Amino acid sequence: MKILLLLVMLIPLTLNSFTVPLEINSFTLPYTVWEKLNYFLEEASLTIPSTPVYIYEASNLYEFYELTGMPYDIGGVYFDFTIILQPIHILKRKGVYEKVLLHELLHWILYGLDEKYQEGLIYWWLKEYERKEVDDFLSAFDGNLPNFIISHWIE
Ligand SMILES: [Zn+2]
Repeated sequence: MKILLLLVMLIPLTLNSFTVPLEINSFTLPYTVWEKLNYFLEEASLTIPSTPVYIYEASNLYEFYELTGMPYDIGGVYFDFTIILQPIHILKRKGVYEKVLLHELLHWILYGLDEKYQEGLIYWWLKEYERKEVDDFLSAFDGNLPNFIISHWIE
């Protein structure tokens, strides 16, 4: 197992009224992902968590399975300020790299939200309405995203 954690340092930089992070250790977050992340932060009235997120890229699919226990149709996993991704070249070949990365980063942004709503809120916001978790979220959601998040924030 490759013991290498890519630490995404979030050094705020004011640019065009967006707070964008600078990346280090050659892990470059695609700009479109940051753009959507910032859009989410704005809509949700949230800020980037003060605890950074570690992003680990598995060196192969077998290692991804070993680390996460997840099947190969799951591109990434978030837990406890850590994101484990399938090898990025594989995610890119499947055309889901940015989608998976954004999804997992949203778990990080929502680290304190009651777990039973996290998946549904994220799929809903990403317009993946066919997921059953979206129904669970929508049954509790009153249409006010910042309020919903505050009232279900447990940390
Ligand atoms: Zn998820």
